[in-house]
Amino acid sequence: MDRQQEFVLRTIEERDIRFVRLWFTDVLGTLKSVAVAPAELEGAFAEGIGFDGSAIEGFARIYEADMLAKPDPSTFQILPWRGESPGTARMFCDICLPDGSPSIADPRQVLKRALDKASDAGFTFYTHPEIEFFLLDRSAQSGADPVAIDTAGYFDHVPGGSGQDFRRSAITMLESMGISVEFSHHEGAPGQNEIDLRYADALTMADNIMTFRTVVKEVALEQNIYATFMPKVFAEHPGSGMHTHMSLFEGDTNAFYEAGGPYQLSTTGRRFIAGLLRHGAEFTAVTNQWVNSYKRLWGGGEAPAYLTWGHNNRSAMVRVPMYKPNKGNSSRVEVRTIDAACNPYLAYAVLLAAGLKGIEEGYELPAETEDDVWRLTADERRAMGIDPLPASLAEAIAAMERSELVAETLGDHVFEYFLRNKRAEWDDYRNQVTAFELSRYLPRL
Ligand code: GLU
Ligand code: MG
Ligand code: MG
Repeated sequence: MDRQQEFVLRTIEERDIRFVRLWFTDVLGTLKSVAVAPAELEGAFAEGIGFDGSAIEGFARIYEADMLAKPDPSTFQILPWRGESPGTARMFCDICLPDGSPSIADPRQVLKRALDKASDAGFTFYTHPEIEFFLLDRSAQSGADPVAIDTAGYFDHVPGGSGQDFRRSAITMLESMGISVEFSHHEGAPGQNEIDLRYADALTMADNIMTFRTVVKEVALEQNIYATFMPKVFAEHPGSGMHTHMSLFEGDTNAFYEAGGPYQLSTTGRRFIAGLLRHGAEFTAVTNQWVNSYKRLWGGGEAPAYLTWGHNNRSAMVRVPMYKPNKGNSSRVEVRTIDAACNPYLAYAVLLAAGLKGIEEGYELPAETEDDVWRLTADERRAMGIDPLPASLAEAIAAMERSELVAETLGDHVFEYFLRNKRAEWDDYRNQVTAFELSRYLPRL
């Protein structure tokens, strides 16, 4: 047993932990959990805990249903909302086949593979997400029309507001689980909040996002409200995104920084952005995976709709923030399409792969667009070479189907499963006759 594993076993004894939840994520980004007794842990570290993979989205073909969950001791944390004594803890797991080889269906392993590739090229990949979500009346949970818990707006201070209490409790809980929070504020829409996590390597961050979503849901329930990461809840208000700031480091040096470069951006940084733009349409189905995601992207409210980049352009898919005169190691690029209802492992894997491809192939960065692209006509956009993002899940699927880069990054199994699942979602959606159609057409057709 290694030292981290010993530390886990010792903490379990000292803190009177009776249940250890083993967490992993299915292909669509749903958190899965199996609780084991502490006595099982030594075996779990050595061999993994067996489970039936065919019960989980995207995990098994019929003939390899037996899977093993192997806990990663570096992710051990006590779950504060489960009470002190006896306590409950969790660890994220890697999923393996019975022979011990990594499961090709495990999103965590997809991201690990992408990170290994970056590391072969000398890079460590850091991310920092701005996670937006809505707080609604509890009734929304059972399908009632959503009602926001307040009517405040961007950065509003709501006296006695439940949003603040909520953020305070959520942040305290996150910090007690080792997840540092950088900023938090009320967002633009009623009931909408944002919490920004302090940067970490992308694997830790993907784990943190899974934890974050759970913490936010738990704290909301405690306060008798409902929290949702659904990308577009109210047609008339902005949706919720998960803008992600990204940087590559070579040792201690930020590879995106160059003192004299345009926006202090190095050639590596420029090529990384070029990769995001060139492959953006292909990976949008992964970063924005639901029918509803496209209602946000095409619904205004500062969400991007075009494959462009800019410095202060909030309509662009990629932004180069310039908060400080000498950015140095804080240099980064911000991708603004991604939403918080994605699978963060898969989404960070495809973003990284696209950026690395740009670096490997030396892609040329197109000119930035400072104009608000929404105000241009379609002809003007075409003349400037500005392409739209996929306008619907159907368009995103079509672009992903043709992508060698996404297939290679996800691996054939996840790639095929994901596309199959998303085609089925689109079919379900387009077979609906909606309230919009009935009210629009029935009276006049
Ligand atoms: N809520 C906006 C979106 O959907 C982002 C607002 C912001 O700039 O933080 O992307
Ligand atoms: Mg925001
Ligand atoms: Mg942002």
